[in-house]
Amino acid sequence: MRTAVRSLLLGCLALVASAFAPAAEGERLKCVATIPDLADIVREVGGERVEVKSIAKGPENLHAMVIRPSHLVAVSNADALFQVGLSLEVAYVPALVEGARNKNVFPSAPGFVNCSIGWKAIQVPEVLTRQAGDVHPQGNPHLNLDPRGGAFLADRVLEALSKLRPASTDYFKTRHADFVARIDVARKRWDEIGAHFKGRKIVEYHQEYDYFLLHYGVERIGTVELRPGIPPTPNHLAHLIEVMKREKCEVLLTAPWSKNNFVDRVAEATGAKVVVLPSSCGGVEDSETWIKMMDTVHERLAKVFGTPIPPRQ
Ligand SMILES: [Zn+2]
Repeated sequence: MRTAVRSLLLGCLALVASAFAPAAEGERLKCVATIPDLADIVREVGGERVEVKSIAKGPENLHAMVIRPSHLVAVSNADALFQVGLSLEVAYVPALVEGARNKNVFPSAPGFVNCSIGWKAIQVPEVLTRQAGDVHPQGNPHLNLDPRGGAFLADRVLEALSKLRPASTDYFKTRHADFVARIDVARKRWDEIGAHFKGRKIVEYHQEYDYFLLHYGVERIGTVELRPGIPPTPNHLAHLIEVMKREKCEVLLTAPWSKNNFVDRVAEATGAKVVVLPSSCGGVEDSETWIKMMDTVHERLAKVFGTPIPPRQ
């Protein structure tokens, strides 16, 4: 009996040890990404030498992810955890890392990958406060929706994977170069589409699309939210409706998670067309990869603005 218990215990310990041991060269690197965009980019750069799971699936509010036991298990077994950073995942990543008790992904480990390091964030409060909103204390974290975001994130992923698997660096570099070349081709088309967006006016629910809008000179004249993460008050909505009518703003951008009664009310009062855009890959149809998602975002805006949409390559 005692031997049976002992072997069971040893078996459990072996399982735990294997969960905590960093992957040896040759084994596929087990990666967890917080958003599907990062999962796609890790797959693009890592190829067959990685396996990737994403916590978010796409349609969710990325600031308010619900963590399930399966996420904890995935992080417990991971060699690397890729996150956007800039407080996008602050509501759940610290607890997830603590709960998983996996030293590979502790904040000081090379497997804890903050992909926004080096990104020049917009809307950064002068001091670290909640003044800019409840969920953007370090500035706007939605860099995955910037047309330049894919290549930037791919650079961070290349650095991280090469550090974790030095012997595969050349393999990762080749795949990274191929991915970035495909982005460059897509961006020529995006620039052609976006050139017609300059000076157009929109309202958005949450400040999710600001990098994109800024890139093409689209004018955001207001948000449905009072501040990032704070729902509107009746006064705020009345003011927004008045401004939209005065400015002849006919487009209201929303994400799948934020297409709610407030959006419907503003659209009804102003006659604005509601356009659903993804917050991340997988959020809407035809957005399962980062390049496809950006294709879809450009096309949906061009459609509502009535501007040309050249065919995809
Ligand atoms: Zn946000």
